[in-house]
Amino acid sequence: MLVHGNAYEIDITVSHQFNASHSLPMRPELHHHDWEVEFTISGKINPLTGMVCDMLELSEFFQPYVEKLNRQNLHEVDDFAQDNELVKVTKRFPTCDTLAHYFMWRTVPNFNHEPRFRGLTISKIMVKIAEPDDHEPWGWATIRPTNLTS
Ligand SMILES: [Zn+2]
Repeated sequence: MLVHGNAYEIDITVSHQFNASHSLPMRPELHHHDWEVEFTISGKINPLTGMVCDMLELSEFFQPYVEKLNRQNLHEVDDFAQDNELVKVTKRFPTCDTLAHYFMWRTVPNFNHEPRFRGLTISKIMVKIAEPDDHEPWGWATIRPTNLTS
């Protein structure tokens, strides 16, 4: 039997992959990686649909943000030059950490303005890194929104 009240939240996660190149001080030659981004949103079940939200719609919402980085040299992504201190760091150091922040910064305001996602929040974004053709990621970074501004 269900407990009365609404003391729960369900997390829904959709995943997108892209490949892109970068160089970092510890590995200065430009090289490729396979990346994966998991977007997690949280909310309650809509009794009219039996779903927190339509997963396909959710997936389609996030897809263009990931596509923007696909097959790119991450040091040349124009969006990383935007007026946000950490996003600018992304252009210089495109790591799982900075990319997770970038996706949060880029998607949260738009997600929050979508009427179809009312009542839902982006609760977590995870960026995973793998060597090309090596399907298992070897590391990842997770960001949770606290009080995002700009
Ligand atoms: Zn690398």
